[in-house]
Amino acid sequence: MTISETVRKGAEILGKAGVSEAENDARELMLYLRNWNLTEYLMNVHEILTDSEAASYRELIGKRAERVPLQHLIGRAYFYGYEFLVNPSVLIPRFDTEILVGTVLAENTGHQEKLSVLDLCTGSGCIAVTLKKEGGYGQVDASDIDPAALHVAEMNAKRLGTEIRFLTGDLFAAIPAGSGIRYDLIVCNPPYIAESERDSLDPEVRDHDPEKALFAGADGLDFYRRISEEAPKYLKPGGKIYLEIGYTQAEAVSLLLFQNGFSGIRTVQDLSGKNRVVRADLLQETEK
Ligand code: GLN
Repeated sequence: MTISETVRKGAEILGKAGVSEAENDARELMLYLRNWNLTEYLMNVHEILTDSEAASYRELIGKRAERVPLQHLIGRAYFYGYEFLVNPSVLIPRFDTEILVGTVLAENTGHQEKLSVLDLCTGSGCIAVTLKKEGGYGQVDASDIDPAALHVAEMNAKRLGTEIRFLTGDLFAAIPAGSGIRYDLIVCNPPYIAESERDSLDPEVRDHDPEKALFAGADGLDFYRRISEEAPKYLKPGGKIYLEIGYTQAEAVSLLLFQNGFSGIRTVQDLSGKNRVVRADLLQETEK
């Protein structure tokens, strides 16, 4: 069989298995197998696969049909135009999170090198690395509770030529005690799915993204509660916080920030008009 026939067959199998972007994924797996870019693929679709290549492709299609995420099969994901390595220890970077990064970048230009940033729950490091690359901020710190996730984030920072300080620990507990460090910007895409929503998730997400990167208690707000309570101790006066949210959580998260002394609370929508980000300012000095 030719490459184009093989990919067509692969797409058919994926479609029957309920994979939403069957044609795209069948093609991406072929690009991965041949280590090709799209142009190379388009120019060579009439080539015939060797038997061993055909067997490898069948195996990849089989796994994707079992709903293993494409990004886990090819070991990478794209975010803000950059390639990030991923594995099952980290949440696969989402397009939604580009709204969070875009909001931070848009609101914080001018003297960027003087601004310090903390990215909590960094996972693959996609937020911290992109902010450093695109925003040119000064000190960028990134924390995660899972050392295996930080290992992936570290590799991504290195591959993309960025210097980031990685800290292991549960939210702000990652920051060395007594360091007195306060940031200009705190950014976070925390876990925010309610336990009750587990059954409505796609199998790719429910069975393959890390459990602790997804769920956040009965109402999905556990991390927002902790972050909005503790963040004032780690922000400079005039510092800002940016949180990605589930699209139904804007009001609840805004209230939590308000109750903890934040002002300038505003929600940012994604391209389809859904609430995606809540941002806020810390005006007054707070006791540590
Ligand atoms: N910060 C990472 C991301 O946005 C991981 C977030 C998470 O694990 N909830 O992709």
